[in-house]
Amino acid sequence: MTSTQSKWLDIENKYDSGIYTKHQVVMVRGQGATVWDEQGRSYIDCVVGYGVATLGHSHPDVVKAVQEQAAKLMVMPQSMPNDKRAEFLQELVGVLPQGLERVFLCNSGTEAMEAAKKFAITGTGRSRFVSMKRGFSGRSLGALAFTWEPKYREPFGDAVDNKHVDFITYGDIEQLRQAVTEETAAVIMEPVQGEGGVRPASIEFLQEARRITKEKGALLILDEIQTGFCRTGKMFACEHSGVIPDGMTLAKAMAGGVPIGAFAMTQEVAQKMPGGGHGTTFGGNPLSMAAGTAAIRAMKREGLAEQAREKGAYMMDKLRAIGSSKIREVRGLGLMIGVELKEKSAPYIHALEHDEGVLTLAATPLVVRFLPPATITKEQIDQVVAAFERVLNNVNPRAERQEELKQADKENEQQE
Ligand SMILES: *Cc1c(COP(=O)(O)O)cnc(C)c1O
Repeated sequence: MTSTQSKWLDIENKYDSGIYTKHQVVMVRGQGATVWDEQGRSYIDCVVGYGVATLGHSHPDVVKAVQEQAAKLMVMPQSMPNDKRAEFLQELVGVLPQGLERVFLCNSGTEAMEAAKKFAITGTGRSRFVSMKRGFSGRSLGALAFTWEPKYREPFGDAVDNKHVDFITYGDIEQLRQAVTEETAAVIMEPVQGEGGVRPASIEFLQEARRITKEKGALLILDEIQTGFCRTGKMFACEHSGVIPDGMTLAKAMAGGVPIGAFAMTQEVAQKMPGGGHGTTFGGNPLSMAAGTAAIRAMKREGLAEQAREKGAYMMDKLRAIGSSKIREVRGLGLMIGVELKEKSAPYIHALEHDEGVLTLAATPLVVRFLPPATITKEQIDQVVAAFERVLNNVNPRAERQEELKQADKENEQQE
């Protein structure tokens, strides 16, 4: 590893809050599936901002929409109707599963989860939740209550109150049946667990969750923050099972790279929230609305879901063909792919970045996660897989580069 003499890196290290252990490169530009660091080195990006740039970095339609809207009007509160917001709402509801026709607009996935929680409470008059082991729902104190992994909650002690949440094993229908009662406001889950190791739920589990919640008068809320907007090979992952939830949290890829979030819900859920019961200053701002409309239209026009489905199958086949004894399992849905190793993934993720110019991320300590843009080319996928095969062959985590491995471990401690 070369030690970078970068003034930008020094400044970030000096003034940033310090919660992120920084990679030793400074990224300055992106186009499609490629990003460049300040020294002009290029990387194939299979992280794309934790799954944000599914359309590729700086998609021309999104760039144009942002440029035009920035010059016209950037901020207008949601109490004041706006042409770009109306246009976006119509576009979004047009692609959502039938029945989800009311939308609370915000700025991130965590905010979407917070909204989901509040709307579920007012929508049902109940305040208990069922969430999943290995699930990830965001970092605010409210959303954190749904997040299973103790390391995210423990530093905050009693301030994270999750006594109102029951955690069950993802995929266990019997446990779900036991956990959902007349006191349950909502069952919350990701259709594919991302942070928890890239684990797709079975179609049967999702369909049973739909049936059980309906029976008990609880809501089914799907967290499609990472899976939504073509990542899994459909516009939304729930389309693989035909399950239509009562609410869906959305963010990440929705506006092609611009911060945005939303909680989409049924009319029935929306109408029970008292006026003024929730709100946000930046939510629904014309800038992200214009970006969002451009992004969703580009996804439809370019058949982005089909691209993700086809390229995801191609990439998973190629990853399976590596046949390394270090690989335990290759799994995923569309272009949300995880390779579980029989040892820690951090040294391999580190070597992919440093030796091969390929950006990937961890999902649990054993899994290498690939979230390339759906616009990635087959040639680029071939390059990524060849690079991965080389690092699997070359990296010997026990024997060499102890310092680098420690850094790699630290870099991979925190995701999303
Ligand atoms: C990223 C993510 C979140 C949190 O979204 P932020 O935009 O980081 O607040 C919540 N749930 C899932 C499934 C995610 O992948």
